[in-house]
Order: sequence, then C-alpha cells, then structure tokens
Amino acid sequence: MLCPHCTADNDRVLDSRACEDGRAIRRRRYCNQCKKRFTTYERVEQYAMQVVKKDDVREPFQREKIERGVERACWKRPIRSERIRELAAQVEADIQSDYESEIPSTVIGHMVMQGLAELDQVAYVRFASVYREFKDVEDFVAELAPLRTPSDASESVDPD
Ligand SMILES: [Zn+2]
Repeated sequence: MLCPHCTADNDRVLDSRACEDGRAIRRRRYCNQCKKRFTTYERVEQYAMQVVKKDDVREPFQREKIERGVERACWKRPIRSERIRELAAQVEADIQSDYESEIPSTVIGHMVMQGLAELDQVAYVRFASVYREFKDVEDFVAELAPLRTPSDASESVDPD
C-alpha cells in the first residue's frame, strides 16, 4: 500500500481489527520510509451488477424484481413468502459468484425458472409462460414435457 505521506510502497501492518459490525477490516499501518502511520479499510466490493435486457438496455440489478416476479408466479400457491425470498437470494448469490459486472436478463430468467421448477410446478409454468412469451401451443407443451412423471404419462389418454 502506497504511503499517503511520502508515497513509498514500504509499510507494515501494526494492527488489524474488524469494524462496522464485521463488514470491514481496519488496518493500522506504519511506513518504514517516513515513519508515519496511516489506516486502511478492507470491505467487500460494492455490488453494481448491470442487467442487459433483450433490447440491449442496461439497468441495475434489483433482487426485489425477482421477488415480485416469483410472487406473481406463486399467487395462490401453497408457498411461504420466506421460500420466495430464499429463491431470490439464491439467484442473487449465484449471479454474484459467476458474473463480474453484467448479466443478460435471459440468464436471470433461466436461473429463476430452475429455482421454481424445484419449488412448485404450477408456479414454474406460470413464470415460464410469461417469461418466455410463448408463441404457440407447441412451445408451451414442450415446456410442460420435462415436468411429466412416468406415472402421468401412463395415465394420459391417447388422442387417437
Ligand atoms: Zn511514508
């Protein structure tokens, strides 16, 4: 760390301690060059993820938007709001760990769909139908197909 007094890059840490309720580390440093002391703080980098939308417009990532979308999909389904918040938090954590500064909105939609598929199949299909803007019935059926269990298939009536 360059010394703010003499700009030498020759210091040693005298003391390190947590501050700001553990959200930062304060280090007291000693410059071996000019013998003066200075302080540095280490914090987690502020999160400024940009979402790239289909029309190439960028907007700041907001977890609340995911929560609202999932809430709509889960309307009148037996899902506790706590689970919705957990899903949104998990998506945010995945984005933070896998993407540096930008993420396509389509990728976020896919992450949410994967989470919903495990949570509730009705909510999943609702979200998928809005999210993917199904153009025809075939698309919708294709979306449903992976959700069918073998027992469902054996009970289904042959249209012919
Ligand atoms: Zn110095």
